[in-house]
Amino acid sequence: MREQFPFFKAHPELVYLDTAATSQKPQVLLDAIQNYYVNDNANVHRGLYKLAYDTTEAYENVRQQVAGFLGAASADEIIFTRGTTDSLNLVASAYGPQVVTAGSQIVVTGAEHHSNFIPWQQLAKRQQATFTVTPVKPDGTVDIAALLAAITPQTKVVAVAQVTNVAGDTLPIAKIAAKAHAVGAVVVVDGAQAVAHLAVDVQAMGADFYAFSGHKIYGPTGIGVLYGR
Ligand code: PMP
Repeated sequence: MREQFPFFKAHPELVYLDTAATSQKPQVLLDAIQNYYVNDNANVHRGLYKLAYDTTEAYENVRQQVAGFLGAASADEIIFTRGTTDSLNLVASAYGPQVVTAGSQIVVTGAEHHSNFIPWQQLAKRQQATFTVTPVKPDGTVDIAALLAAITPQTKVVAVAQVTNVAGDTLPIAKIAAKAHAVGAVVVVDGAQAVAHLAVDVQAMGADFYAFSGHKIYGPTGIGVLYGR
């Protein structure tokens, strides 16, 4: 395993325990980036010559691969962003105001990362909506009963991590989505800590939006994904 990461040749003495924050980069990734810029570089979707068509095809193939990785119904449900934070801010700022109005409710858990907390807190403030933060238990895990009980007919968005970065607990998204959908709310799932560890199926879990980052799963920094059903 270590041999696949040049980082450990530079730091043979190190055991790296911060992969949940950001992963080290395997040679295969570094080669792919280098190879693209050396051999293939052209303007994706904006050039009318063979090289541009080839890079566009390669780019769209990745969208298809990501759709498969998440169990999405179509590659059209996948867009590329700068990371989880960017994906979640995009949903909160572009889609949020369409469904959250005065008197609406947004529900998040007390174990959300700031990137799945502050955009919703600010949206609620702007729209004069109620912002409900559900409690965590003394061990840091999310209180699922309290979360389910917080969802009301006024709820428009339920924003939760699939795996939290607080205690590492996995939330029962399908159960949460069933309750949310019953009142007409959408479920926004922060998958930043989940995609590296779980077989994700956005359709089975009933996620309406799902976000993750490249840099936590051995990809480059500055690329992320947003799935929208
Ligand atoms: N959500 C969770 C659960 C995370 O652990 C992180 C990264 N620590 C993020 C969101 C934010 O990811 P990024 O900085 O790549 O946007």
